[in-house]
Amino acid sequence: MPKKYDVIVIGGGHNGLVNAAYLARARKKVLVLERRHVLGGAAVTEEIVPGFKFSVFSYVVSLLRPEIIRDLDLPRHGLEILPLDGTFTPAIEGKHLWRVNDHAKTRRELERHSKLDAEAYDEFSQAMVAMCRFVKPILAMVPPDPTSLDPRGFKKLASLAKRFQVLPAEDKYNLVQLMTMSAADFLDQWFETDILKATMSSSGIIGTFLGIRSPGSAYVLLHHYMGEIDGAFRSWGFSRGGTGAISNAIGAAAREAGAEIRTEAPVARILVKDGSARGVVLESGEEIQASSVSSSVDPNLTFLKFIESRELPGEFLDEVRRYKFRGSSGKVNLALDALPDFTCLPGPGHHLRGAISISPSTEYLERAYDQAKYGEFSRRPYVDMVIPSLTDPSVAPPGKHVLSCFVQYAPYKLSSGTWDEQREAFGNTVIDTISEYAPNLKNIIIGKQVLTPLDIERQTGLTEGNIFQGELSLEQLFFLRPVAGWARYRTPIRNLFMCGSATHPGGGIMGAPGRLAALEMLGESGRGKD
Ligand SMILES: Cc1cc2nc3c(=O)[nH]c(=O)nc-3n(C[C@H](O)[C@H](O)[C@H](O)COP(=O)(O)OP(=O)(O)OC[C@H]3O[C@@H](n4cnc5c(N)ncnc54)[C@H](O)[C@@H]3O)c2cc1C
Repeated sequence: MPKKYDVIVIGGGHNGLVNAAYLARARKKVLVLERRHVLGGAAVTEEIVPGFKFSVFSYVVSLLRPEIIRDLDLPRHGLEILPLDGTFTPAIEGKHLWRVNDHAKTRRELERHSKLDAEAYDEFSQAMVAMCRFVKPILAMVPPDPTSLDPRGFKKLASLAKRFQVLPAEDKYNLVQLMTMSAADFLDQWFETDILKATMSSSGIIGTFLGIRSPGSAYVLLHHYMGEIDGAFRSWGFSRGGTGAISNAIGAAAREAGAEIRTEAPVARILVKDGSARGVVLESGEEIQASSVSSSVDPNLTFLKFIESRELPGEFLDEVRRYKFRGSSGKVNLALDALPDFTCLPGPGHHLRGAISISPSTEYLERAYDQAKYGEFSRRPYVDMVIPSLTDPSVAPPGKHVLSCFVQYAPYKLSSGTWDEQREAFGNTVIDTISEYAPNLKNIIIGKQVLTPLDIERQTGLTEGNIFQGELSLEQLFFLRPVAGWARYRTPIRNLFMCGSATHPGGGIMGAPGRLAALEMLGESGRGKD
């Protein structure tokens, strides 16, 4: 007699694993099916160059929900977050900006550039903390649907409205501006130093097809501000062993709770009978039955690939087809023989232990976007780099280093040629760009991995290589993610749920979608658990 599960989770990325862990802890019989040989999806560590462990896609962590770390006891399963101290922004002509987690030190650094900005930085930091305090509880909430008559939704909306009403006027204005403005325009209101505005506004474009002057990018800036490590607001960190170690810790928690996890088990179809999900069919032809299916992959794969269109309402399918991916990012991972040496701040100092951001001016970033708008990768891209081996020596052989470079813009849709033809040129552009600031780079590279948005799509399944399973633009957030009317992890098919980054509250190594979907599936979200 074939085994029957309570729930099959499609995809062993970190959200699928969180979903499985919570369901298994509630005594459900759970099976996770992961296409690749390794768990983690976009949060994965792989030894691409012998001896060097790359966080192949995502590279830093901040948004992982504290309640998940607690509930699943992740430190006991191997999770260890190491601090990432600040952001170093080199510029040509010997200039630089180096912000650290120590507020007083950063203030002194800003004074070097502008006394006014140093003062404004205090006010700005307080305002952002107030914004994060307002928005943060929403991350842990199953989104209420304002069109539904469900009293639980009304209660949540009323409590949100009340919280907004009691905000000081200044915070109300800031919040509306953050929801509507561009990152650069928002920052223009606070600061005058261009390199400061440039490097700060770059958080507003990560994972989107927006420029720093495009309305909507200020919200993405806030999204990246909302993280915390050990209770410290907006700090970012490395996971010891790479981001794959986060997924492995969650996987271990899920297994301990009783979940079964199969790798190299690609799903080809979701079985639907009489409007209800009944299990899946693997690419091998194997059929597995379950009472429910929870999909952690994006709506494109879930609804347009795994399910026959006749099983879904036409209007819903139209909305799914309209859902925006617009991948815009690439990644270059380098194995290095030594540390890069930056002309503007030479030597192996503490400035190499945080993020290193190639975002020297607002004009530089906007020009990088101009090329992407017309279907070309940026010839001088925005690059966000980290050297995890300085903080976590386990990822490289002694004396050697890993340089992880997140790159924008790399538009999924090129105006001419294919990504397979352009991969080499793209990788060279990134290395040339960094070399303008750290001229020794080319001489110390001993191995490299260049990932275009097409490679990201091929390896992780993320449609168009969008790092968040769909853009974090306002029309695709909260009760509109992924589709208006279907934001509560449910779908038009009974017993088919969604639990990945394409659902509220979106992408990043957060785990919130996986957890909230589990609460909804278990019927616990209305009982104050979300
Ligand atoms: C280049 C890049 C850099 C990033 N940097 C950061 C960062 O530094 N910090 C951060 O917080 N976030 C970052 N992100 C975003 C973050 O990594 C993702 O939003 C998050 O990991 C997505 O998790 P998920 O579980 O929702 O989906 P995924 O990780 O996409 O997981 C889905 C899983 O489903 C599997 N799958 C696909 N098709 C099938 C199938 N047919 N059958 C079975 N399984 C299937 C995939 O292999 C994958 O394991 C980055 C992402 C990328 C791509």
